[in-house]
This record gives sequence, C-alpha cells and structure tokens, in this order.
Amino acid sequence: MAEYQRPTNEQELTQHFEQLKPYMNPTMAYYESSRCLFCYDAPCVKACPTGIDIPLFIRQINTQNVEGAASTIYSSNYFGNICGKVCPTEVLCEGACVYNHQDVKPIEIGRLQSFATSSVINNQKQLLHPAPANGKKVAVIGAGPSGIACACELRAHGYDVDIFEAKDHPSGLALYGCAPYKVTNQDVLDEVAWLQQQFSFQIHYGQAIQTQEQWRNLESTYDAIFLGTGLGKTRALNIPGENLENCFGATEFIEQVKLNPLTAKVGKKVVVIGGGNTAMDAASESARLGAEEVTLAYRRSKAGMGAYEFEYELAKGVGVKGVFNAAPVAILGNQRVEGIRLVKTQESEGKVEVIPGSEFEIGCDVVILATGQSKMTELFSQIQGLQVDGQGRIVVNPATRQTAHSKYFAGGDAVNGGAEVVNAAAEGKAAGKGIHEFLLFN
Ligand SMILES: Cc1cc2nc3c(=O)[nH]c(=O)nc-3n(C[C@H](O)[C@H](O)[C@H](O)COP(=O)(O)OP(=O)(O)OC[C@H]3O[C@@H](n4cnc5c(N)ncnc54)[C@H](O)[C@@H]3O)c2cc1C
Ligand code: SF4
Repeated sequence: MAEYQRPTNEQELTQHFEQLKPYMNPTMAYYESSRCLFCYDAPCVKACPTGIDIPLFIRQINTQNVEGAASTIYSSNYFGNICGKVCPTEVLCEGACVYNHQDVKPIEIGRLQSFATSSVINNQKQLLHPAPANGKKVAVIGAGPSGIACACELRAHGYDVDIFEAKDHPSGLALYGCAPYKVTNQDVLDEVAWLQQQFSFQIHYGQAIQTQEQWRNLESTYDAIFLGTGLGKTRALNIPGENLENCFGATEFIEQVKLNPLTAKVGKKVVVIGGGNTAMDAASESARLGAEEVTLAYRRSKAGMGAYEFEYELAKGVGVKGVFNAAPVAILGNQRVEGIRLVKTQESEGKVEVIPGSEFEIGCDVVILATGQSKMTELFSQIQGLQVDGQGRIVVNPATRQTAHSKYFAGGDAVNGGAEVVNAAAEGKAAGKGIHEFLLFN
C-alpha cells in the first residue's frame, strides 16, 4: 500500500504537501539567529547569487530589528521570501556555512530569511519606494522572477514600467513550477502583490508578445525592452507512443498539480523519465497525490543524475524507486499509455551506449517526460538583430545584460538556459541596472 492515498480535500492536500521549511516563530528565529558567528568575509554571502549580507540580516533579527533585516534582504533580492523557501540552500548559503566544517548543523539561513520577509509582507509595511518619475518607460516581457525583479529595479530608478504576461498570474515557474511542499501558491502571490504595492508597476495579463509587428510597436513606444520569457514546453523524445493519452511533459503535469491539485490527472503506476530536479519533483508530486507506484528511469547511472542529492532523497522518502542505466525506447498502448519499453545502457568515456537485446518493459498507466524544456528560438527569431547561441539561449553582455540589439536586455532562464529562481532574480535586477545606465546616456 502506498504511503499517500489520493487527497480528496484541502486539508488532506495540506498534509500531503507539508512545508519542508515552515515559517519560524519569533522564539525560533531568535534562537537560530543567536547561533550565527557573524563571520568576517562570510562564505555564505559569497555562495548567494544575489550576495545578500547574510550576517547583517541575521544580526538584525537577533536584535529584534526584523524590518531592518527584511530591508537588508530586499536591497539585494526582490524575491527574498520565495527564495528563502525554494532556493537549494543546501548547496548555496547553508552549504557554505562554516558550521559544516565542525560537524554542526549549518544556520537555517533560508528559514530566517523567510521569517523576516514574511513579517513585512504580512504587516503590509511600506519598505521600498519608486524614485520620482524620470520620463522614460520600459516594457518587460514576462512576469516571472526575472521580469518582476527587473521591473522593481527600474521603478527604484524612476522608470515607468509595463509588464506583458502571457498567463493569468504573475511569478512564472515560481508559481507554476516550484513544488507545493517548498512554497505555497499563496506565499508566491503575496510576495509579488507586496512588491507591486511597493513599486506600483502595471502587469498586463493574457498578453503574449509574439509577432514581429508587436515587437516593432514596443520598440517605438518604449525606451528599452527586457526579455524575461523563460523556457518553452517539455522537449519531445521522438520515440513511438509519445502522443498517447496519459503521456505528459513534466512541466505541463506540474502546472496542473500547482493549479488544480485535487483534479490533476495522476496515474496508479507512474514512470518518470529523466534525472534532473524536475524529474524528482514530478515523481514526488505523483507519489504525494496518491500514485501507488512511482518509478524514475534514467539513462545514466545514479551518480550521473543532474538532480541535487537531497532532491533524490526527498523523492525516495515518499516511496519513489530509481531505475538507472535505462533509456526509453517506446511508450506502449493503443489509445492510452499501458507501459513503457526501456533498454539497458552502459557508459563509456561519458557517452551512453545501448546494450543490444536488453530491452525490458514496465507496465504503467502514466508516463511523465522530464526531458528538459525547449528554448524559445522561434519567438526570438521575430526580433531583428537579437543573437542566440547554439543552444537557443539569448546572448547578453554579462555585466549589463544588454543583447546584440541595443534596445533589448534579457535575463533568467531565457539566458542561462534554466537555473533557479535566485539566478533569475539576480539577473533581472542586474538588467534593471544595465537599462538605467544605458538610458542615462541615450
Ligand atoms: C518543475 C520546476 C520546478 C522548479 N523548482 C525550483 C525550485 O524548487 N527552486 C528554484 O529556485 N527554482 C526552481 N525552478 C526553476 C525556476 O522556477 C526558474 O529558474 C525561474 O522561475 C526562471 O525565472 P524566469 O523569470 O527566467 O522565467 P519563468 O519563471 O519561466 O517566467 C517567464 C514568464 O514569461 C511569460 N512569457 C513567456 N513568453 C511570453 C511572451 N511571448 N509574452 C508574454 N509573456 C511571456 C511566461 O508565461 C512566464 O510567466 C523550477 C523549475 C521547474 C520547471
Ligand atoms: S557562514 Fe554561517 S555562521 Fe558564518 S555568517 Fe554565514 S550563516 Fe553565520
């Protein structure tokens, strides 16, 4: 019998998706902040892509200056609360904490960060302010972490900002992708609503910018344009049976789970193909939604998986089983998925080689492909002069985030090829600065 049954109401959902990093209460935050050594040249700061002054905000929490702590965090990272919950802190700030060298549990930096930031969000504190209007305006395409961070930075310099978002809600994959046991939808939406209240920027929902004409209109209306469009749909594997009913892309499956967890389609026997963090999430979420058997199949060895070790441990913790050195050959079934055929593999000098005659089948009613997201090359080809690299990523000057077309700047997954919320937030903010420096002289 599987550990989790299919949840039937909100209460059961909350139990199945219990928060991994729940909010601390003031006593917990005081105690935890007391443990910090306030290191000079702190390694935790160097490990943070947004360079938050971690010892400073922890000291501020410890001296009961929670608002000051939130101010310190938001001065470096506009997604302070979400990042405190979804960042892979184990390999970033907390992984770098000096306590690790002494066999002592590292400081819970992520939870302290969320403690301070949630306090100003919940109390609707006015902490950040737009600068007086400077008469220039910027269009931001995409209301994901990179786009929102860019918009905040631009408002802090006095630009008028319009965000154009294809979907009905803000936050991109922070809302539609990040696992529900890491952050709740409410927490994600609350932080963006708070930022919007601080800086008053416009988000135009249901506005996908796609055609050459739309891009030209924006170019003539705005002084600069930021591209924070992220990545596309799950890449196809191009094997037989991929179009059968109940074969889903992982990001599309996870989006359903995030939006409609009680009605999302979850199989009884699920096979997830892939070895990255998204594969781990899709497998864990299937198990927590009541799938009886969840198998992760990866074409390389366990050591070759791209997923963080703690993500695989999390998946194993809810009953997911790993099958390694197994590559998919075909998805089986007539109209809908009935199984999957795999072939055993071996690795030679880093290359995956199929072992002839070693095919085997696993019976299942759902296959989830976590085979990476496609790039938006078709979209970018509509913008004349924009340069993309061989892997479909927008090419930017890393210091200014300016693209080959001087009016366009870019950041987040569309540039880095797919990283974390914290990277998108850092790059969006850097692009806001880059646009400001560019427009000062143009
Ligand atoms: C399943 C999954 C789980 C993840 N879990 C984590 C995690 O636990 N921790 C973590 O730190 N990171 C996680 N990530 C990664 C993280 O969510 C992304 O790196 C981050 O959201 C990227 O931000 P972005 O702004 O570049 O793009 P996105 O978040 O993808 O936002 C892009 C936005 O642009 C909009 N858009 C696209 N094209 C257009 C257009 N033509 N016109 C208008 N709007 C458009 C989209 O609708 C979207 O809202 C996860 C990703 C996935 C897929
Ligand atoms: S490394 Fe650890 S102990 Fe040192 S400042 Fe950072 S969180 Fe505090």
